[in-house]
Amino acid sequence: MIENSYPIEHIAELLNVEFFELKYETLINTLLIDSRSVRRPDTSLFFALSADRDGHEFIGDAYASGIRSFVISNPAYANTFPDANFLLVPDVLEALQQLAIDRRSHFDYDVLAITGSNGKTIVKEWLYQLLASDYNIVRSPKSFNSQIGVPLSVWQINNEHTLGIFEAGISKNGEMGRLAEIIQPTIGILTNIGEAHAEGFSSAKEKLAEKLKLFNDVNLFIYSPDYTGSLADKKLPGRKKFSWSTRTKADLEILFVEPIKGRSYLRAVYKKEEIECLIPFSDRASVENGIICWATLLALGYTPQEADLRLEKLTAVNMRLELKNGINQCSVIDDSYSADISSLAIALDFLRLQNQHLNKTLILSDIYETGKTDQDLYTEIAALLKQKQVNRLVGVGPHIKAFAQLFPVESLFFESTQDFVNNFPAIHFANETILVKGARRFEFERISKLLTQKVHDTVMEIDLSALAGNLKFYKSKLKPGVKVMAMVKAFSYGSGSFEIANLLQYHKVDFLAVAYADEGIALRKAGITLPIMIMSPEPYAFEAILKYKLEPELYNLDILKAFIEFLPDSQYYYPVHLKLDTGMHRLGFEEPDLTSLLPILVATDKIKIVSAFSHFVASEDPQHDEFTKYQIQRYLDMSIELRAELGYDFIRHISNTSGITRHPEAQLDMVRIGIGLYGFDGGLKGNQGLQTVAILKTTITQIKTVGPLETVGYGRRGILPEGGTIATVKIGYADGYRRSFGNGVGKMLVAGKPVPTVGSIAMDMCMLDITGLDVKTGDEVVVFNDQLTIADLAEQIDTIPYEILTNISQRVKRVYFYE
Ligand SMILES: *Cc1c(COP(=O)(O)O)cnc(C)c1O
Repeated sequence: MIENSYPIEHIAELLNVEFFELKYETLINTLLIDSRSVRRPDTSLFFALSADRDGHEFIGDAYASGIRSFVISNPAYANTFPDANFLLVPDVLEALQQLAIDRRSHFDYDVLAITGSNGKTIVKEWLYQLLASDYNIVRSPKSFNSQIGVPLSVWQINNEHTLGIFEAGISKNGEMGRLAEIIQPTIGILTNIGEAHAEGFSSAKEKLAEKLKLFNDVNLFIYSPDYTGSLADKKLPGRKKFSWSTRTKADLEILFVEPIKGRSYLRAVYKKEEIECLIPFSDRASVENGIICWATLLALGYTPQEADLRLEKLTAVNMRLELKNGINQCSVIDDSYSADISSLAIALDFLRLQNQHLNKTLILSDIYETGKTDQDLYTEIAALLKQKQVNRLVGVGPHIKAFAQLFPVESLFFESTQDFVNNFPAIHFANETILVKGARRFEFERISKLLTQKVHDTVMEIDLSALAGNLKFYKSKLKPGVKVMAMVKAFSYGSGSFEIANLLQYHKVDFLAVAYADEGIALRKAGITLPIMIMSPEPYAFEAILKYKLEPELYNLDILKAFIEFLPDSQYYYPVHLKLDTGMHRLGFEEPDLTSLLPILVATDKIKIVSAFSHFVASEDPQHDEFTKYQIQRYLDMSIELRAELGYDFIRHISNTSGITRHPEAQLDMVRIGIGLYGFDGGLKGNQGLQTVAILKTTITQIKTVGPLETVGYGRRGILPEGGTIATVKIGYADGYRRSFGNGVGKMLVAGKPVPTVGSIAMDMCMLDITGLDVKTGDEVVVFNDQLTIADLAEQIDTIPYEILTNISQRVKRVYFYE
C-alpha cells in the first residue's frame, strides 16, 4: 500500500537531488505551481516553473504563505530561507513529471486516457457522471491536460480510487510521449481530430500519429475511423479495439440521429442488432461527445439497455464560474453545477481574489463520491474555508449539516435546497461576496436565481480567463524585469471595474491607470491596493487623490505647481508621474519645457517622480515606424536629461499594446497594456495569439412578416423589396449599438448566421432581416463574439475596436466568467 504523502527526503531521492539537506521535516501531500493557490502550505511542495514569469521570483511569496519545500533549478535560490527545503534539479518541469510517473507506477487499476482536438473535457466529465456509481474515480480537475496539468492531475491518484480518467492535450509534435509515460493508460479514447492547434504540426497525419502515441500500450482503444481514416487498422494501437462511426462499418454503427425537443434520439447497429439511446442534447458537438460515451459504455461491457438509461441522465458540464451582481450589493459567484474538493478549491481561490467586500460566504451542498469518510471530508473543507478566509458557510444537505460544529459560528445549515428556499426571506445577505457551489442533484441554480439581480436580455459576457490569457501573452513577450501598467480607464475599455482590476491585481501587474480620479476611487473602495495612476487629475480632485492614495500624472507646469502647492508641508515625496510629449501633441511637457520644469522638481521635496513616460501615436502602423523610432529617441534624450538633474531613478515607459511586439526595444522599464488585454492589437495580424474577451448578446422580442410595399422602423427607411421576415431585437443606440449600423450596414448572428439590420436603429431596439431562418421569439442573437468580431463591427461603420468596446453603455449588464 502506497501512502498518500511522501517524506520530503524520499522525494529528494526520487528526483536524484545530489546535495539534499533536510531543513524542515514534512510529509508532502500537495504539488503546487502557483504560490497563490496554496491549501495546506506545510505539506505542499512548490515547483519554481518558468512560464510567463520565472517561478523562482515567487519563492518569497510562497514562503510567506507558509510553504517550506521548493523544487528549483536556479542554484542562486538554494537556501534563500534557512528553515526551508530546497531541491535543486536540472529541470523543474521534468521533476514535476518524474514525481507523477513514480506515483502512477504504484497503482494497477484501470486508467482511461482521452485525447483529441475537441470534447476532451466534456467526454471526461460525462464518463465521470456515467461511471461514478460503479467506481471511485480520480479525474483531471477542469481541463488540466497540458505538460503541467497532466502530472498535477495524476499526482492525485491514491488507494481509495478504483478508476482514473485523465485528459491529455498537446500543441506540438513530440509532446505526447511524456504524457503517455505519466498517465500510463490502460484504456484509450480518441475523441476527434480537427483543425485546432494545427500550427504545431507539419501535417494532419503527423498530428494523428503524435496523438496516438498516448495509446501505445492500452488494452482497449475506442475511436472512430471517421477520424483515423487514413491509417490502416493494424497501425492503430490497442490489444482490443472498439470503433464507432456515422459513416462506415464499425462496432457501433450510427444509423441516424433525430432531434426531438432539444434531445437527440439515436439508432445504431451493435453486435448485428439495432439498438437505441436518447441523449438529452441536440447540438452537434454534444451529440458526438454523447456517441463517444455510448461507445465507451458498450466497450466496457455495459448492456445497451443500461447504457441508454445512463446516457439519458447526462447533464450539461459547466466549467465556468460566473460572477454576477447580486441582491443587496452582493457579488455572486455562481458555480452551481458541480461540487468536489478540487473544483471547490479553485472556486475558493476565485472567491479570495474578490476584494470588493470584506465578508465572504460559501453556500455549499453535500459532496458525494470523494472516497473519504464524512468526518475526514468535512474536516478538510473546514480547514480549507479557514485558510481561504471564508467568514460564513451556508451548508445544504444532511451530511454537511451533521458536521455543523466544524464550521464558523455564524454558519447556517439546511436539510435540503427546498429548506433553504423556504427560509430564504429570513436569511440575511448584504454587502458580501457569495460563492454558490452545489452538487448537481441539489439544483443550486434555484439558489443563485434568488441571489442574483435579474439580468436583462442584453448582456455582455466577459471572459476573465481570456483576459488573463492575453496578459500572459504579453508578459511572455517582455524582456526580463520589465514591469506592466494595465490601462483600465473608461471602465476597463467597457469591460468592467473592480472585476477586471481584481484579476489584474491577482496576476501581479505593477500599476493600474485610469483617466479620472473617481475611477481610481471606485477601485480603492472595491479593495484594490495596487498603485493607481490618474491621467487627468483635476485640481478639485486633489483632496480625494491624497485621501485614496492615487498617483497623479502631471503633464504641464500649471498642474504640477498646483499639485505641489496643494500638498501639505508634512507630506514628503508624494508619488507622481510625469508625462512627456514626444509627438502626440496632446498632453505632456515638451523638450523646451524642461528648462522651466527641472528647477522646480529639484527644489521641491514634496513630490517624487515615480515614473516619466511618453505615448506612441502609431506604434501599430509600419507606415509610421520612422516616427515611432523618432519618438523613442526623443523620449530617451529627455529622460536622460531628467535623470541627470533629479539625481534619482524613475521608471521609464513609452510603449502601449502594439509597441510591445512591434518595437521591443522600447519596452524600457515598463509597458502600458490597454486594448491588448481586451483581445485586440492593431499590430498583430488577425490578433494572433490573443483570445476573445467580450461577447455581446441580445434576444429576439418579436417576429413579423412584412410585405414588399411595407416599411420598417422610423423614417420608413427599412424596405424588403420582396417582403420577408424581420426580428425585433433588444438593442439600440442607447446601448451603444450606433445608429450608423442601421439599414443593412451592421450584421448580427442569428442561429449562427450573419443577418443584416433593416431600417434605422432605434434607441432601445432594432430590426433584423431573418427571412428563411427557423427561429423564434426569445432566441439568442449575437452582436459580437469570436466569429463576428468587434474588429468586423468597427470596419462596418469605419471606426476602431476601441470605440465599439467603450461605447457599450452601462445599461448593458456585464457577466463575468472564469474557467
Ligand atoms: C490608453 C493609453 C494606453 C494604452 O493604449 P493601447 O493602445 O490601448 O494599449 C497607453 N498609454 C496611455 C497614456 C493611454 O492613454
